[in-house]
Amino acid sequence: MSSNATSFLIKRAKVEEDSLRDFIYPAKAGKIRPILKILLTNRCQGKCSYCANNRDTNCLRFSISPKNLSRYFMNLYSKKLVEGLFVSNALYRNADFSQEQILETLIILRKKMEYKGYLHAKILPGSDFALIRELFKYADRLSINLEFPTQKDLSLASEKELYYDLMRRLKYLSRINENEKLKSGITTQFVVGATSATDREYLTMSFYLYRNLKLRRVYYSGFVPIRGTPLESLVPVSPLRIKRLYQADFLIREYGFLPSRLAYDAKGNLLLDKDVKEAFALKNKSLYPVNVNRASWEELIKVPGIGKNKASQILKLRKEGKITSFDKLEKLKIPAKAKPWICY
Ligand code: SF4
Repeated sequence: MSSNATSFLIKRAKVEEDSLRDFIYPAKAGKIRPILKILLTNRCQGKCSYCANNRDTNCLRFSISPKNLSRYFMNLYSKKLVEGLFVSNALYRNADFSQEQILETLIILRKKMEYKGYLHAKILPGSDFALIRELFKYADRLSINLEFPTQKDLSLASEKELYYDLMRRLKYLSRINENEKLKSGITTQFVVGATSATDREYLTMSFYLYRNLKLRRVYYSGFVPIRGTPLESLVPVSPLRIKRLYQADFLIREYGFLPSRLAYDAKGNLLLDKDVKEAFALKNKSLYPVNVNRASWEELIKVPGIGKNKASQILKLRKEGKITSFDKLEKLKIPAKAKPWICY
């Protein structure tokens, strides 16, 4: 199951160690780390209209065995070209076969090759819950791509029952993770722009996933039309829309903003011409100006230009005496855009 399947496209059908270098991408997790991100095969029986690997396209098909992938990966790892592996699979033969191949790769790496580094494995729709359970023993991170925020959208772009199937597995992961905490948690990914799903719908679902299922991260992948697929004539999503979604996601995840309080246009999408926090402030004017001498930390972080660190620095600064002008805040490198939203 690969949204953003373009990242898995291969230029050569024969997969050898050298061709794996095409799949190394810089993952951001604190610092940037090179991760090998690959499907064991792109021979898929799925029919997702946004994906280059769907069974009806005539893209170049490839496969690599769990044994070869493990061997090649370890060679790249020993040369310090990669720091981790993210392994996924298409729906080849059936879901259990494809999921077993992922599991086999992890077992070879952990048990035979004694690899101790980062492993991220994808959970496939329809795969056996016992296989998912087993993956907890070997993976640092498990993910399920929900792809869309509603059943209606996923049905339009994919196969009908997939949404409930994915949600069931995501809830199962979340339950097991309560006691057997994965080091790098559970994540999901959405495709944005392949259907009419709105930013409000994406963010409402993300809020649910963070709050109720305790996901570590939700990723937003901008839809790019792929020739030969049913959606080839759609326009690619604007990178600014993805940037705004990540800004809003950050505010929801780290700052406790509610998606319902964010500012959207008439269609339910975030405003492209404004930073998300600034748009929030304009929509919720009754919360401002925030008095920097009296406000709580939670109120301070709602001010455009004031993040968690700056809010803590303001709390410290006001112990030294009343803040009477912006000059003192400027010394903390608080940007001028905060000015209209504060008072003293
Ligand atoms: S299941 Fe769908 S998204 Fe995954 S590889 Fe197959 S066609 Fe692509």
